[in-house]
This record gives sequence, structure tokens and C-alpha cells, in this order.
Amino acid sequence: MKGIIFCISGPSGVGKGTIVNELMARDPTLALSVSCTTRAPRPGEKHGVHYFFLSHEEFRKKLENGEFLEYDEHFGNFYGTLKAYVTKLADEDRPVILEIDVVGAFKAKEYYGSTRRVVNIFIKPPSLEVLEERLHRRGSESDEQLVARRRRVQFEYGQADKFDYIVLNDEVSRATEEILGIIQKEKSKQ
Ligand code: 5GP
Repeated sequence: MKGIIFCISGPSGVGKGTIVNELMARDPTLALSVSCTTRAPRPGEKHGVHYFFLSHEEFRKKLENGEFLEYDEHFGNFYGTLKAYVTKLADEDRPVILEIDVVGAFKAKEYYGSTRRVVNIFIKPPSLEVLEERLHRRGSESDEQLVARRRRVQFEYGQADKFDYIVLNDEVSRATEEILGIIQKEKSKQ
């Protein structure tokens, strides 16, 4: 049997990373997909654990070889999900968690088609205003960048209806609990 792939997605700033960390801590049977990035490691980050840290040249080669399920550029750096990495984890019959943006989640579903079950979960903020306020508070961005980000957030926010599940991030532990319930439900369906 093959593991189900769960994409934890939603607009930037919604708290996907925090929820994913909590999910991994609560259920050790889950496997987290490690992405590739061209950005430099931050203190404490390890190659192969937090990301596969690649040079631009290495990333370009993988891109040309069609190794990415999806990729994107954020703040001048590239990020990509490896097809082989995700498929291998799913083949080990473990539920695989992908922390991924909205477009990436759609691409993952499209890529696997009927060969693997991909369940897309949208993390929703309490309101669009809360999200915009959070983005604003992050600071250190020009007005132009902020406008671009806001437009992106509004687009992402509007995609919720296309997801299999919508989970409100009103409180991290509650939202995590709800996602663990979804994972169990999907596993039992299989
Ligand atoms: P950071 O540099 O803070 O780790 O991540 C920056 C952004 O890249 C975050 O919004 C994160 O979700 C996104 N990101 C991380 N890995 C991937 C990936 O594999 N694909 C895509 N499209 N975005 C990613």
C-alpha cells in the first residue's frame, strides 16, 4: 500500500510552518518532505534535515532534469520539491507531509493524478485582515513589495474552495488536532 501525501498549504503568513512542526512532534509516523533551496542555511539548519542547500547551478540542473514536482522563487531564492524524495517516502507507506504554497499543492495533485492519493489541506487565517496585519508587522519591506505580497495573499486566500479540507488556524494545537483527525480519517478510507 502507498502512503497518502498531505499538502499543508495556505497563504503566506498563515502559520503553516508552526503547524507542520507541531504535527511532526505529535505523530512520529509522519514523514516530512525536505525541499531544495538556493538560500544559505540559517544558524542551526542542517543539510538534508531542514533543506537540501544547493547552489544556483545545482538547482538549475535539477530543474532541467525535471526532478522537481514544483518549484518557486521567494525573495530571490529558489525552492523546489523533489519528485523522487516524496515518491520514495510514499512508497514506504508513510503519510507524507508537504508544506507547500497553494499553487504547489495543485501541482502535486496534478503530478500524482491517480497514482498516489494527494490530500490538499488549506490553512485558513481567522480573517484576511489578520493576515494582512501580520504581513505588515513583519516590516522591512518596501511599499512596492508589500503591495505585491498583499496581492499574492489575496489570490491564495481565494483558492480555499479548491481544497479537500479547510482548517481554521484559530489556535495552533486545535488546528493540529483537526489535521491529525483528517490524516486518520483518510488512512482508514484506504
Ligand atoms: P524560508 O526561506 O523562510 O525557509 O522559506 C521561504 C518560503 O519558501 C516559505 O514561504 C516556504 O513555505 C517556501 N518554501 C519552502 N520550501 C518550498 C518548496 O519546496 N516549494 C515552494 N514552492 N515553496 C517552498
